[in-house]
Amino acid sequence: MHFPLKPLVPMVLVGLLGGQSVLAAEPESAASNATMSSNTTVVMLGTGTPVLKHERAGQAILVVVDKEMYLFDAGPGFVRNFDALSGKDFMPEDIYFSNDSVYGEMNKVFVTHLDSDHVMGMPELMLRPWVMGRSESMKVIGPKGVEAMTTNILEAYVDDIDHRLHGTQPANPDGFNVDVTEISETQVVHQDDKVTITAFKVPHGSWEDGMAFGYRVETPEKTVVISGDTRHEEALYEHFEGADILIHEVMSEGGVHQLPQDWQDYMYHAHTSTKQLAEIGDAIEPELLVMTHPLLFGQTDEQLREEMAGYYDGNFVLASDLAIYD
Ligand SMILES: [Zn+2]
Repeated sequence: MHFPLKPLVPMVLVGLLGGQSVLAAEPESAASNATMSSNTTVVMLGTGTPVLKHERAGQAILVVVDKEMYLFDAGPGFVRNFDALSGKDFMPEDIYFSNDSVYGEMNKVFVTHLDSDHVMGMPELMLRPWVMGRSESMKVIGPKGVEAMTTNILEAYVDDIDHRLHGTQPANPDGFNVDVTEISETQVVHQDDKVTITAFKVPHGSWEDGMAFGYRVETPEKTVVISGDTRHEEALYEHFEGADILIHEVMSEGGVHQLPQDWQDYMYHAHTSTKQLAEIGDAIEPELLVMTHPLLFGQTDEQLREEMAGYYDGNFVLASDLAIYD
């Protein structure tokens, strides 16, 4: 298939008008940040679990701040959901094609952990936006092992990359590359003139300490916290504190109790039940508590919502793919 990529210069100009370069002219101090306005939007690009559901792509949460995109996880199938965002006014302009190309602007991803339901979409994220126009390396931040994973993905697709680079199809030379940072501690992992992102360690099953993370995203307008996959521990509350939108994994309390005891023990070692999540909500009092990654164990979505409503009086939703919160 032949894609008529436009010349580089117009792409850069549009990027400058719509992206960070304009923002970079703004003052950078924390005090001035507090008075800056921003437009922060959360898009659930994938809300699934290892259990296959046609209506839920794998885990992927997009935070868009003044048209700059920050992606958290790259679960299987999520890239297709970008298509529904073309033309939304909070998204970057479509610049390469008349539609379905906003993900050409997708240039950074923050990985919570390396369970496949969170990273099986990585090859598509690395390669498809490049074919559709991304001309810069994609930043990848995540736990130890993410470098080997991306290196091996490039190795697996070497023939595809080679024929696009050296065949007759016009292609840019850099967009398939990755710029990887591995982390193992709670730390600030990204800071620009409007957004500070802190990775914090979470306890998730038998993953070693420093191998699973949640992310706290602070903008002048909002604080969004993404739990990643984690069991319930009060020590995490300091990272949830002040969240306007708390996006947290969940499992059905009624469902998990129907499992054999060894599976129950495993699940509580790795995940957070509705009852536990209600305790978190009561302690943190977010404006909106978003349940995602629902482990149902035979329960329905509606039963999960009813269960949660029985434990929690605050404002909550069960996320579906392409739900938007702002
Ligand atoms: Zn998971």
